[in-house]
Amino acid sequence: MEWRVPLADLDYGPEEADAVLNVLKRKWLTMGEITQDFERAFAEMHGAKYAFGVANATVALHLACLALEIQPGDEVIVPSLSFVATSNAVLYTGANVRFADILGLENLTVDPEEIRQKITSRTKAIIVMHYGGYPCQMEEITRIAREYNLVIIEDAAHAPGASLNGKPLGIWGDIGCFSFFSNKNLSTGEGGMVITNREDLAEKIRLLRSHGMTTLTYDRHRGHAFSYDVLSLGYNYRIDEIHSALGIAQLQKLSRNNALRRQWTDLYRQELADLPLVLPFTSTPGESACHLFPVLLPAKASRERFMQFMREQGVQTSIHYPPIHSFSYYREKYGHLSLPRTEMVGLREVTLPLYPTMGEEKVKTVVQAVRKALQNAEI
Ligand SMILES: *Cc1c(COP(=O)(O)O)cnc(C)c1O
Repeated sequence: MEWRVPLADLDYGPEEADAVLNVLKRKWLTMGEITQDFERAFAEMHGAKYAFGVANATVALHLACLALEIQPGDEVIVPSLSFVATSNAVLYTGANVRFADILGLENLTVDPEEIRQKITSRTKAIIVMHYGGYPCQMEEITRIAREYNLVIIEDAAHAPGASLNGKPLGIWGDIGCFSFFSNKNLSTGEGGMVITNREDLAEKIRLLRSHGMTTLTYDRHRGHAFSYDVLSLGYNYRIDEIHSALGIAQLQKLSRNNALRRQWTDLYRQELADLPLVLPFTSTPGESACHLFPVLLPAKASRERFMQFMREQGVQTSIHYPPIHSFSYYREKYGHLSLPRTEMVGLREVTLPLYPTMGEEKVKTVVQAVRKALQNAEI
C-alpha cells in the first residue's frame, strides 16, 4: 500500500551508501575498526565508558540480564506496556518477571510506586523502558533500587540521544540497551548497543557477546594472539561492520533528527490541542528522543474504526502496545493479571506518524485526517 503518510520513514542518503561501500572496499566484515569507531562514538554521545555493538536490542537485553547474573528463582520487575522483548529477555535466563503498571494516561512510563509494591525477597532487578523516548522517573527509581539493593537495566530502544536533567538515558541504571531496528531513531536494519559505566559488567558483556572467548578473530588476524580460551557460556550476539558503518552515518544525523522529531511533536500538540484526545507526555521533564507520537482516543470511540478511517485517508497508524501480560503466552504462564492503567492505554492508544523528514505539510495532513475521524459519528 502507498501511504500518503507512513508511520515512519528512514532518513537514508548518500552518506549511508558511501559508508557501506567503504566497508566492502576494506574487505573486513565483522568485529573490526568500524564497529570500534561506532562503539566509541555512541559511548561518547551517551556519556558511557563502555559500549558494545550487538545484533539487536533483544540480545542486548539478554546480555544485560546475563551480565547481572539474573537466574532461575530471581524476579525482575518490568513494564507491561512495552515491546515483548523487554520481558522475554528476562525469561530467557529462567528468571520470572513481575509486571508494573504505568503512571497514568499523561505519562506512559512505569510508576515508581508500582515498582516498590512489586518488590519481593526474590527481586533482583528492575527494567525500565523510556516509552517513546520520554524519560522514566529515574531519580525516584534509582532511589528505590538503592534502597532495596536492586540493579537497573534501561530498555532505551526508543531513546538514543535523550536525557533527563542533562544526563543521557541509558547510563542512569547499570546497563542501557538500544535498538537500531529499521523503524527506530537510529536505523541500521538490525542492530543494537549495550552501554555501561561499570568495568565489571563491561568485561562480562565483552565475553558473552562473543562465545565467552578470550580473544577475537580480529586480534588473531592482526597477529596479536594465536589461540584462545573459553571462560563462560557465551553467544554470538555480535554486530557486523556493514551495520556499524550505517550506525556511524546515522549517529551523525541523530541530534538533528531528534530535534526535527521534537519540532513535529510540538506542531502536533499545537494542532491537536482542541480535540478530545489525551496527548501524553505534555509536561514530562527531560529531553525526549521523540521516537513516537502516541494519542489516546476518547473512551467511547472505536479504535478499530478510527484506524480504518485513517488508513482510508492514506495515513498509517499503529498501537504501542498491546500489554505484554495480555498475550496468550504470558497469560498461560502467569494467569490473569490486573494492570488497569496499562490496560486502558492498551485499548485507547493510537500512534500517529512521526519521522524526521515528514515536514509540516504531512503533520497537517495527519491532523486533518484525525479531525475528520473524530467528527465522524460512526467512530
Ligand atoms: C524495538 C524494541 C526492542 C527490540 O529491539 P530489536 O532491536 O528489534 O531486538 C525492545 N524494546 C523496545 C521497547 C523496542 O521498541
